[in-house]
Amino acid sequence: MMPLAYLCDFDGTVSPHDIGAAIAERFSRDGEAARVPELAAWRAGRLGHRALTEAQCAVMRATESEALEFTRGFTLDPAFAPFARAALAGGDSVMVVSEGFDFYVRDQLARAGLAELPWAANALIFGADGAVEPRFPFADPACDACGNCKAAHVRRSRARGFHTVLVGDGDSDRHGALEADTVLARGSLLEWCRAEGVVHTAVRNFADVSAWAREAALLRRDDQRNDGRPGRPLRAAGWGRT
Ligand SMILES: [Mg+2]
Repeated sequence: MMPLAYLCDFDGTVSPHDIGAAIAERFSRDGEAARVPELAAWRAGRLGHRALTEAQCAVMRATESEALEFTRGFTLDPAFAPFARAALAGGDSVMVVSEGFDFYVRDQLARAGLAELPWAANALIFGADGAVEPRFPFADPACDACGNCKAAHVRRSRARGFHTVLVGDGDSDRHGALEADTVLARGSLLEWCRAEGVVHTAVRNFADVSAWAREAALLRRDDQRNDGRPGRPLRAAGWGRT
């Protein structure tokens, strides 16, 4: 039976709120980082999110302690931790892949009792003068779209023998969605999947993802009983892309 690897977007998905967008607005003068010209270019698809993050960080000022104090006003989808624990207990894998920043992804997961869950995000370096500088340890040097290449995370999980499931809500999930075997989408990712004909299942939250996971587990169990071929019922149910 092929195990599933859930690759979960953070802002707007694991966290119902976009914490990255909120800190950009909160920690720039008069919310300037939420109005940089690069934002319109990114929304129009003319600029990658990596360049947008750099432009926003250039007008932000924050210390790590005040940034953490602010982000602790947000919480995760309450269904995420139970979902992750059940998936791990069932032999599947769960990883958070975020185009946001390391300091709040790490903190939010730890506060939800998920400090051991693997995650990858962009890094934010806090300078002594309040200046902040982004770093992109998971960028694809051959592509300037994203800071954190979700497509590469999906490919890595598949190479390790997993049926990959991308869970996301936004534009920075598109390349990961195109690589994934299964897409669970909400928000603008859902609209894009519909417009582009990318096979997907619509979800509202992690209660829906859990329901999908339980159904997938039943189908995989039946499949094993019938002929043992991995993955087939997921595709037969219209959940796979292939
Ligand atoms: Mg998102």
